[in-house]
Amino acid sequence: MRDLIRINQPFLGKEEIDAAGEVIRTGILTEKSGMGPKVLEFERSFAKFVGTKHAIALASGTAALHAALLAADVRAGDDVLVPSFTFAATASAVLLTGARPVFVDIDKDNYCMKTDSVERVITRKAKAVVPVHLYGMPAEMDPIMDLAHQRDLVVIDDAAQAHGAMYNERNVGSIGNMTCFSFYAGKNLTTGEGGMITTNDDDYARTLRMIRTHGEERPYWITRLGHNYRMPEISASIGLAQLKKLPLFLEKRRKNAESLTEELSMLGRLALPREPERGKHSWYVYTVRLRGANAGKRNKVVEKLRAKNIEASIYYETPVHLLPLYRDSFGYKRGTLPETEKAARQVFSLPVHPKISPEDLDYIVENVKKVIV
Ligand SMILES: *Cc1c(COP(=O)(O)O)cnc(C)c1O
Repeated sequence: MRDLIRINQPFLGKEEIDAAGEVIRTGILTEKSGMGPKVLEFERSFAKFVGTKHAIALASGTAALHAALLAADVRAGDDVLVPSFTFAATASAVLLTGARPVFVDIDKDNYCMKTDSVERVITRKAKAVVPVHLYGMPAEMDPIMDLAHQRDLVVIDDAAQAHGAMYNERNVGSIGNMTCFSFYAGKNLTTGEGGMITTNDDDYARTLRMIRTHGEERPYWITRLGHNYRMPEISASIGLAQLKKLPLFLEKRRKNAESLTEELSMLGRLALPREPERGKHSWYVYTVRLRGANAGKRNKVVEKLRAKNIEASIYYETPVHLLPLYRDSFGYKRGTLPETEKAARQVFSLPVHPKISPEDLDYIVENVKKVIV
């Protein structure tokens, strides 16, 4: 049997090995200010890639979300609007601040937060909104920004899966007040663990740098509560090498997605993901939805593909509001978010990462066609 085709896999080479080796040779593994030479260089390069004034490197995507919420002064007694169809970290970051996550339903076509649904559940205590660019598909940021302006909300978008995505001809990362990226091993760009916040706001940038290092205004002078959310120098050096390759990675992901679309569109039984108008998908994963009578067979389909060593995956089988922690803490019940719950039953994702070869794609297509009859 052929090797497992993973849903996502880091793409590392000599450049990353050399970069990490160089850091080890210099012996500077971290700086207590959080601003070692490689971190500063990675931040500058990432800010340039996204087109923002600032980028602040952090220890993880979750740390980035938590720090951004803290910088927005989100605290106990506040509400934060988040989608439930996401990785739990989006909502956990809210809980970590002491605030309450208020879950919002999705748009059935792009799987991202729907502005109408935000309006339906928004409360007087709402202080921030966290749209997620799910699977790499940019969320509808313009109506969200308008609503945030009217209701005085801070927009912190979760771009953990959306490095290189574009919305209405603007880069994801340059639209919300603060945008959080993840560099976890499976993401489009990896440093092993790591995260980044991009922002054009000088005050947020300064506050985030303080939160990253124990709330220090200057060495050992602590003026607010912070964490150790620093990114190690080795990670930053790997990130720099990865960032140079990111355009190529994205091109390969897009090509792979396009060939899947070409081959699978004639099936008719699958709703396929599409590139947004005037925007770009970052193709973190290729997520399809089983239509009609087939919808109930989703788990079987995934099992069969896995038996063929294709790591088809379900993101996310249980929406966050129905996870025990959230369901029990806030009393959420099944049926609260109909589009989210329906998508959670019907979607599955296929790999399109840059290590996927044309032969892998043929094999995936052949097997998808076989199991969806
Ligand atoms: C990966 C991910 C995170 C968390 O990032 P980490 O770097 O793993 O902490 C948050 N939100 C979404 C949507 C993610 O996919």
